[in-house]
Amino acid sequence: MKKIILTGDRPTGRLHVGHYVGSLRRRVELQNSGEFDDIYIMIADAQALTDNADNPDKVRENIIEVALDYLSVGLDPAKSVLFIQSYVQELTELTFYYSNLVTVSRLQRNPTVKTEIQMRNFETSIPVGFFTYPISQAADITAFKATTVPAGEDQMPMVEQTREIVRKFNQTYGETLVEPEILLPDNDACMRLPGTDGKAKMSKSLGNCIYLSEDETSVQKKVMSMYTDPNHIRVQDPGQIEGNTVFTYLDAFCKDEYFAEYLPDYANLDELKAHYQRGGLGDVKVKRFLNAVLNEELAPIRARRKEYEKDIAYVYDVLKQGSEKARAVAAQTLSEVKDAMRINYFDDEELIKKHIEKYQNE
Ligand code: ATP
Ligand code: MG
Repeated sequence: MKKIILTGDRPTGRLHVGHYVGSLRRRVELQNSGEFDDIYIMIADAQALTDNADNPDKVRENIIEVALDYLSVGLDPAKSVLFIQSYVQELTELTFYYSNLVTVSRLQRNPTVKTEIQMRNFETSIPVGFFTYPISQAADITAFKATTVPAGEDQMPMVEQTREIVRKFNQTYGETLVEPEILLPDNDACMRLPGTDGKAKMSKSLGNCIYLSEDETSVQKKVMSMYTDPNHIRVQDPGQIEGNTVFTYLDAFCKDEYFAEYLPDYANLDELKAHYQRGGLGDVKVKRFLNAVLNEELAPIRARRKEYEKDIAYVYDVLKQGSEKARAVAAQTLSEVKDAMRINYFDDEELIKKHIEKYQNE
């Protein structure tokens, strides 16, 4: 069986370091590993409209931002198909048929959707499209027969929902769709990187982000005002690592070689953590180190972005070509789906013949 990746992001803002550690960094590694037959990366504009129906301009303006971020982190259009969801109309048709295989109570149990409904104050009036977006995600994944979905932890319920739809579809209509698997980050900090406020996960909708394209000064400001251990008041006090955002970020980004360069008193992160827990290590020193680490990681991304920003027409062309390619693949799957569901009347000579015979003798 072919190994195929489908994943994507909502164009609701520029991409942030949570996206990077939760999904983007892994995508680029997988892309360059050569282990996958096909890779599809989707800018989920139609999904973004499910909770931004009154603000299509926000979505429209951010498509190019997400595309620039993709290219800057190293997604390569020669190896990965970068495309826009709404251009692939077949996805909405698949969503419509899959909707018959899912119950309202099943959707209500989705923990990510539950949290997101609260976050958006949708409790009293949830847009139907938003409520059912896990079904549309199932369409996105299955349209490309994806086997692998590299994503953050919040996507687990979506992939599970997709698997259920695939099983139900195949049971009901015959083996047609492929069951995907989620590929989570291998490090806990990356599963759900917290925001700079230390509260919820870093999310465009919560304004607690460090963006991939953010300049050095602005990143430094955010790092220096980051949430740490509120009980670690004096330098000599023992500090807590758990729930300490600065250390969570170091878990997500730090490599041993950064110590040699920026903090040679320690060999690795474990030593730094031990010192903090014992007491005698101030927050400012750790924050300065984190800032240096982030800067090392972000500098090449920023530099590549600057280059692509000079050729926006090229970026749009990449998206257009990718969207056309993606559409052809989704159309093929849709046609298989309709065959399986036997809603292919005009292609079914047997059906027409049978009905001719039925009425011939009347
Ligand atoms: P929005 O607030 O509009 O939902 P978002 O910041 O949650 O935006 P998405 O486009 O919904 O971003 O998510 C894209 C991908 O990035 C998903 O695979 C998701 O799991 C991952 N991701 C998003 N935020 C984080 C995070 N803080 N930590 C790890 N992974 C994340
Ligand atoms: Mg999200």
